[in-house]
Amino acid sequence: MKILIGSAWPYANGSLHIGHLASLLPADVIARYHRAKGDDVYFVSGSDCHGTPVSIRAKQEKRSPQEVSDFYHEEFSECFFKLGFSYDLYGKTSSAEHKEFIIEFHRKMYESKYIYEKNSPQVYCEVCKKVLVDRLVVGKCPICGEKARGDQCDACNSVFEAENLIEPACSICDHSPIFKESKHLYIAITQLEDSLKSFLDSHLNWRKNALAFSNRYIKEGLRDRAITRDLEWGIDVPKAGYEDKKIYIWAENVLGYLSASKQVSEERGTSFKELWGENSKHYYVHGKDNIPFHTIILPTLLWANGSGWRLPDVIVSSEHMTLDGKKISTSNNWAIWIKDIIDKYNPDSLRYFFIANGPEKRDADFSWKEYFKSHNGELLGAYGNFVNRNLAFISRYFNKTIPKGKFDNNIEKHITELYLSVDKKIEQTNFKDALDEIFEFVRYGNSILTQKSLG
Ligand SMILES: [Zn+2]
Ligand SMILES: [Zn+2]
Repeated sequence: MKILIGSAWPYANGSLHIGHLASLLPADVIARYHRAKGDDVYFVSGSDCHGTPVSIRAKQEKRSPQEVSDFYHEEFSECFFKLGFSYDLYGKTSSAEHKEFIIEFHRKMYESKYIYEKNSPQVYCEVCKKVLVDRLVVGKCPICGEKARGDQCDACNSVFEAENLIEPACSICDHSPIFKESKHLYIAITQLEDSLKSFLDSHLNWRKNALAFSNRYIKEGLRDRAITRDLEWGIDVPKAGYEDKKIYIWAENVLGYLSASKQVSEERGTSFKELWGENSKHYYVHGKDNIPFHTIILPTLLWANGSGWRLPDVIVSSEHMTLDGKKISTSNNWAIWIKDIIDKYNPDSLRYFFIANGPEKRDADFSWKEYFKSHNGELLGAYGNFVNRNLAFISRYFNKTIPKGKFDNNIEKHITELYLSVDKKIEQTNFKDALDEIFEFVRYGNSILTQKSLG
């Protein structure tokens, strides 16, 4: 069977932290599991290189967006490699292959009834001579009155139009902006409401947070979204009259799963069409903040393009990882960066901790104390001890060779049951339960050795 596993594409504007590791690691578990079962696995991801956050970072560091995103892309690739992530391709949205795929995909999508042109007011700074896209305009939230940026408020989690900000100001020069009409392409998500609803209703086995978030997103009212932006850094819009605009990132980054798996299919000489057709299975692995991009936006883009693309099958959406009980925050520098720990600790020890104690169904906390406890108590104390006692026993009494003997019926039964049960749990993406059960067996094994005073 063909299996696609897409793990979320991190923004190439800052280093990876343990929150990224916790939400993306399940993808590697699924990939290794399906490969072990003999499936044809396409495990892909990459760095999200476009968008305003990268441009802002570039400006601060007096480098080009290309340089900044390449720098972080290299760092991410190295971190994932050292952590043992077995990607079949870890690409980047600034690659020629991705851009070429996106331009083709969009060109076809623009012919559909779901894409239309509309004039809308853009926030424009006359001092900076610039359209203040996304987070470049600041002001007060029209809903709660707290400080907000662009079209969203982090205080009350609302999304609105940037022109509704109260007391708007340019984040670069602080002047009040004016509004300038500009033509953009829109995607008619509202026309797909019924299709989205029945898509969600046919996946009631998804994790609770994925269903709750997606249903809430629809219930709060879908609105058509612009898929083009007044930007200099991004992918060109394949349409006449749009030469000074770029494709908005959310209308291209989620399509990286297609461009990357197409590249892998071409390298292997396998059918990309079959991978995205009826008889395959697609997993999407990410943190809960990314849910609507995979359950609403991605299906919308796939439908609008036509071509009968396969829709997501399984959504593996984690909750949040906290650090010493506090929310991880890049801006407040409250995080543990992967690049700082990857050479100090064994990747398997880190991976064990983040699967056994990860935010699979509820928020989870990281502290050094708990990490050391997990490593010393469970990995070394239980598993390491079990392996070592067995090896020492064979070495001492059987001249380092496993003798032919009769298998204890109870133990054999126990192992068979464990194997089948763990298989089922991984398939249902219940990794914590699967690991718990394996460790229960390890403790059972240790108790037998103790009982029989062996090893
Ligand atoms: Zn607000
Ligand atoms: Zn300005």
